[in-house]
Amino acid sequence: MTEKKRLNKKGLSRRAFIKRAAVGVTVGVAATYGVTAMMQKSSTDSTNVDMITISDLELVSKIELKKEDSLIIVDMQNDFLPSGALPVNGGDKIISPINSLAERFHNHDNIIVMTQDWHPPGHHSFASSHNKEPFEPFESEGIGPVLWPDHCVEGSKGAEFHPDVEGRFANAIIRKGYHQNVDSYSAFIENDMKTYTGLSGLLNTLGIKRVFLCGLALDYCVFYSAIDGRNLGFDVVLPIDLSKAIDSPPGHLSNVLQKMMDEGVQFVKSDNIA
Ligand SMILES: [Zn+2]
Repeated sequence: MTEKKRLNKKGLSRRAFIKRAAVGVTVGVAATYGVTAMMQKSSTDSTNVDMITISDLELVSKIELKKEDSLIIVDMQNDFLPSGALPVNGGDKIISPINSLAERFHNHDNIIVMTQDWHPPGHHSFASSHNKEPFEPFESEGIGPVLWPDHCVEGSKGAEFHPDVEGRFANAIIRKGYHQNVDSYSAFIENDMKTYTGLSGLLNTLGIKRVFLCGLALDYCVFYSAIDGRNLGFDVVLPIDLSKAIDSPPGHLSNVLQKMMDEGVQFVKSDNIA
């Protein structure tokens, strides 16, 4: 199968996966807005699913850094952290260990890339652009499966990296989601599944063979980056303690963990990367 065909095949399954995850996003993010009753109800409703949790993952015991390794730090921006417009629970807890891992990569002279969600005002993924409420289902090419609160507007405080996130080690910053009508969960390819961010070209030019992914959110931007990374031919390692999920009705995080295992993503604790 040619690379192009393979990508198209994966792309279609990705779109189907996003659709299935729609309800999960709605409830998961609603919970961070205080609608905890919804979350509790869904938790008790689905005890019959064979679920994988982070503690079930098979971890690589130790990984030594090679010169073809790169660290990708995904979307550690104010709006995705507590008190931001679209916060991921516990996101602040991973700042310090991500800084520590970035310093290790820097000391080994490895390439570090940070990504930044970066939307123009009135972006098509915003509920306010459609006179709808945040988290309402919505689907058009490159947008959906739900609409979001306004977040990470280019040049705004919310779009800035959190002040405690160490930016001085970054060799490059990739911005994504800046086309008015296309969202981008993956750091590699936007949600229309044909617009590249340029990250794969950068990494290939620099001779990178393996990427380590951390940041926010585990079950969205980190997950889609991991899958695209595999499809583009990179080895992918996920330091599992350096990412937090939106997590939604039980089953959503489990699905993405299973998908990443199936695609050959490796999991490791960040302390075991040397
Ligand atoms: Zn966004």
